Amino acid sequence: KSSKADIPREKSALLFEKAKKYFPGGVNSPVRAFKSVYGTPLFIERGDGCFLWDADGNQFIDFCCSWGPLILGHNNPKIKEAVVAALEHGLSFGAPTALENELAELILKNNKYIEKLRFVSSGTEAVMSAIRLARGYTGRDKIIKFEGCYHGHSDSLLVKAGSGLVTFGETSSLGVPKSFAEDTIVIALDDKEALTAAFEQFKGEIAAVIIEGVPANNGLLLQDKAYIQFLREITQANGSILIFDEVITGFRLGFEGAAAYYDIKPDIITYGKIIGGGMPVGAYGSSAEIMMHISPDGGVYQAGTLSGNPVAMAAGIAQLSELNKAGFYKELNKKASEFVASIRRYADAKNYKVKIFNIASIFWIAFTDKENIKAATDIAHESMDKYKILHRELLNRGIYLGPSGYEVGFVSSAHSKIELEKAKRAIFESLDVVFK
Ligand code: PMP
Repeated sequence: KSSKADIPREKSALLFEKAKKYFPGGVNSPVRAFKSVYGTPLFIERGDGCFLWDADGNQFIDFCCSWGPLILGHNNPKIKEAVVAALEHGLSFGAPTALENELAELILKNNKYIEKLRFVSSGTEAVMSAIRLARGYTGRDKIIKFEGCYHGHSDSLLVKAGSGLVTFGETSSLGVPKSFAEDTIVIALDDKEALTAAFEQFKGEIAAVIIEGVPANNGLLLQDKAYIQFLREITQANGSILIFDEVITGFRLGFEGAAAYYDIKPDIITYGKIIGGGMPVGAYGSSAEIMMHISPDGGVYQAGTLSGNPVAMAAGIAQLSELNKAGFYKELNKKASEFVASIRRYADAKNYKVKIFNIASIFWIAFTDKENIKAATDIAHESMDKYKILHRELLNRGIYLGPSGYEVGFVSSAHSKIELEKAKRAIFESLDVVFK
C-alpha cells in the first residue's frame, strides 16, 4: 500500500514561521508544535460539528476535540447561543453572578461525590489548588503521584509526568526546586507493593495520593477497579486525602465521571475541559467539611480575577445541560465503542500489531501486541515511530488526531455515523501503509 500525497500546508507553514518569532517553539502549549509527528503544525481557522478547517482550506474529521472539552463537537449552536447572550451583558465583573450558582447547582445536584466546589480557570489551577487544600487540611507536605499521570504544570506535579513531557522524552521539568520534587513521591501505576512501601517509609507524612480518574496522558492506562479501591483504603487507613484528577474523565465517562464509574468516593475531585464547554474553566470539589478550609472560610488561600467568569459559566451551563439529558452518554459511548470495535476487527484480521484501548468515548491507538497496558513503562518509545506514520497518513486522508502517540482521542456527539464510517476507512488504509 502506498502513502497518499501530502495535503497543502503552505499557509500553515508561513503562519508557523511567524509564530516562531513570537512564541517559544512557535506555540503557546508544547504538544501543539507537531515536534513528534510529521510536518509543521496546522493552523486552524474554524471548527463546526466534528469538522475542522485549517488555514490552507483542508477539512478534517477531528478526534482531538481541543484535547477533550468539546464533547458536543465544535461550535455547538446551544453553547454559542448561551455565550452570545452572556456577552451582551459584559465580559467580566470580578463579582459574584447568578450564572456561577446555576452551573454549581447543575453539577452538585447531579453528583453524589462532592458537596461544594470552587471554580478556577484551568485544569492546572484546579489540581494545584486541590493539592494545597489536601496539604492545608492534613498539615502534611508529601504527595504521591503515579508515573505517567499528568496533572497540569504546577511545580509539585511536573515530576515523571505524561502529556508533552513524555512526548518529548523528558518526563520531569527543569525549574522545579529540588525541595518541591522531594515532596512528590512517584510510583508506578498498578503496583500495590510500591504504594504500601511508600506509606510505610513516610508514615504520617503523606498529605494526598493523586491519580487521574483514568490515566489518559501517557496512553490510556486502564486500571482495575480493585486497584482504585486499594488506593481508597490505604489513603483512608493513613489519614491521607485521595484526589481523583478528573480533568479528562469528569463529565466524559458519565456526568459523575470516574468516581461513579468505579463507584468510589475520593476526598477531592478536580475538573477541567468539558466543564467549561470550550471556555477556560476548571473546578475542584469535595465535602462541605473539607471545602470549609478554603479561604475566606478557612486558611487555605486560593483566588482568581477571572474565576467563575460569566461567559465561561454560560458555556459550561449550556454544555452540561445537554450532557445531563437522559441517554446522552449511553448513545455516545455506544457509538464510540462500535467505532473502536470495527477498527480492532480490521487490525486483527490483518494481524497488525496494534491495539485500540477504549473507555466511554475515549480511545487510544497503541502499536503493541500487549492485551493490557496499565503502567507507563509498558509502552515502548519506539512504537511512536509507527504513530508518526499513522498521523501523517490520517491527516492526508482528512482525519485529525492529536499530534502525539501518547495522547488519547475523543469521539463527540457531533461525530455522525457517516463521518465515523469515513474515518474508519481512512484508519484502515493508513494502518495498511504503517504495516506495508
Ligand atoms: N489534569 C489532567 C488529567 C489533564 O489531562 C490536564 C490537561 N490535559 C490537566 C490536568 C491540566 O489542565 P489544563 O491544561 O487545563 O491546565
